[in-house]
Amino acid sequence: MELYKFLERFVQIPADYRPDLAHPFFYNDAIVATDGFALIRVYQLGLPCKPGSARYINHLDSLFAATPGPCGEQYDVPQCEEHRVTCSDCNGIGCEECDGTGEVIEYKKIAIGPALFNEHLLARLNGLPNCKLHIEHPQRPAWFTFTGGDGLIMPTF
Ligand SMILES: [Zn+2]
Repeated sequence: MELYKFLERFVQIPADYRPDLAHPFFYNDAIVATDGFALIRVYQLGLPCKPGSARYINHLDSLFAATPGPCGEQYDVPQCEEHRVTCSDCNGIGCEECDGTGEVIEYKKIAIGPALFNEHLLARLNGLPNCKLHIEHPQRPAWFTFTGGDGLIMPTF
């Protein structure tokens, strides 16, 4: 049950954009959550979740086939935060751009080894037990590993 809160960090928000990704789902012998920018795979069945849609199961099959790993240099993940700022499109009143919240994520780039990552994505990894980032190429998705699972995070440029 312990790892469920991490799965929730990786789901698609807002849900109506890609409803199939708005919840963790079963993938082979694991549970996956992703919003397309980062993905977590937890080998702990018995957590509440739904079956995956055939479309995204196929996407994941190709993604994992194209991204063998984890390999490359290994790094610790720094402590990161997701910063939110007032939406400049609506000045905080709420609009389509900010899903009516009046706030948007502030994008900050963090350098780790040869690669750059968005801080709000790295923040999702904070607290995962024994988490390491494996950077094989600065412009390809990087694997992260932790006790109980692994995942991929997209770099930025
Ligand atoms: Zn707005």
